[in-house]
Amino acid sequence: MLLNQITAWSMTSVIEINLAQGDTLYRQGDAHDSGFIIVSGEIILYTHIGGKRIDVERRGPGSIVGELSVLTGQPRTVTVEATTDCTFFRISADQILNRFDRLDPILRACVDTSISFTGKLSEQSQKENTDIVPLAQSNLRDAEELIDRFKFELDVIKGIENEEFFMVYQPIVAIEDASIVGFEALMRWVHPTRGFVPPDKFIQCAEDMGAVSKLTDYALIETAAALKRMQAIKGTPDTLFASVNISGDDICRPNFADMLLHIIDLNELDPCHIKLEVTETSLIGDFETADRNLKRIRDLGCGISVDDFGTGYSNLAYLKSLPLTTLKIDRAFAGDAFENPVSRGIVRMLLTLGKELNVDIIAEGLETSDDVQTLHQLGCKYAQGYFYHKPMPEADLTSVLSGTTTGRDAA
Ligand code: C2E
Ligand code: MG
Ligand code: MG
Repeated sequence: MLLNQITAWSMTSVIEINLAQGDTLYRQGDAHDSGFIIVSGEIILYTHIGGKRIDVERRGPGSIVGELSVLTGQPRTVTVEATTDCTFFRISADQILNRFDRLDPILRACVDTSISFTGKLSEQSQKENTDIVPLAQSNLRDAEELIDRFKFELDVIKGIENEEFFMVYQPIVAIEDASIVGFEALMRWVHPTRGFVPPDKFIQCAEDMGAVSKLTDYALIETAAALKRMQAIKGTPDTLFASVNISGDDICRPNFADMLLHIIDLNELDPCHIKLEVTETSLIGDFETADRNLKRIRDLGCGISVDDFGTGYSNLAYLKSLPLTTLKIDRAFAGDAFENPVSRGIVRMLLTLGKELNVDIIAEGLETSDDVQTLHQLGCKYAQGYFYHKPMPEADLTSVLSGTTTGRDAA
């Protein structure tokens, strides 16, 4: 399935717009559907009062325009014209208002007050307008960083459209005999000019843009089909499971459980062979919705793992409520337990906790035989790490599972 066909894809975020000299970006009185960051070129803002054109200000790269009518909900108060060829990043009103809503309430009140005060000042200055139109200072703090960020967002959007993302799979093993019991699906992106981009970076960006569901759907569809193919390999236990990382936004999506069930049915999988990995921090947002949806997912029969356990949320109350099946001890503790007695103590405590909660424990990030031995002695049953296997494409994992290569060869 094509990545850009999975869900309706609305450009909720950034779009690049180019204007030639003399073109109009928007006119006084137009509806407020977006703000614009000037990446290059120069514009002039002017208004008509009593039939007379009054030039208000010129702006250049690193400035934002159009944000005011988005924030006030009023039509455009000025016309904006390109005085040179220009490139803009268009940011939708939804995006701006979404970010505004997330501001600290005091900051939001400051911005609201400033907007109404600026409005009054600007009426005053229009009355006293002279012919000198100053070039305003860039009105964005850290403009360069912001423009880079939007360039990155655009690349992520293009990456989705061009299907540049793909999955690799890292085996999860039983420490007892190093046999593969399942695998974690990890997303990869090799951008045509940026090269390899770490998943934490593009996932975070997709989350900020509200587009992560697109990537999650892709990960689930690809992984479910890959799991079905791998379960069919001769000699592979039919208990082989796949673990897929999901984000806070996914957990709160109203139709997420239905979509998951659909993918499971489509591939004729047993739901217990699909596990979803959530991080502690992804549970912080709308806990009630997360709780309700995770219970529904658990009722379907899927497993629910807490990823990077021990690194996020210090309030463990969610352990009482959520229907968890697995805790994954973060590499910061599991991969450090051999050398560091404090990490070893924490791992011991987490293993006891796992026993009390009746959940499986997987140790992440084991790189050496000392790490493995330490975890084994502490009573941990499952592990994932470079010592056993690195993440690999499906074809390599298929070879490992069918015994034509060892894990180390494939890594
Ligand atoms: P994670 O879910 O905790 O995944 C484990 C990370 O540890 C992976 O990094 C894996 O390559 C790495 N790793 C495994 N064993 C070892 C080891 O022995 N040593 C070291 N140093 N690292 C090891 P990766 O693939 O870079 O992914 C980073 C994070 O990005 C993931 O952490 C996960 O939070 C996120 N991510 C990756 N793919 C997806 C995805 O499809 N969806 C979502 N929502 N997040 C994803
Ligand atoms: Mg994970
Ligand atoms: Mg992890």
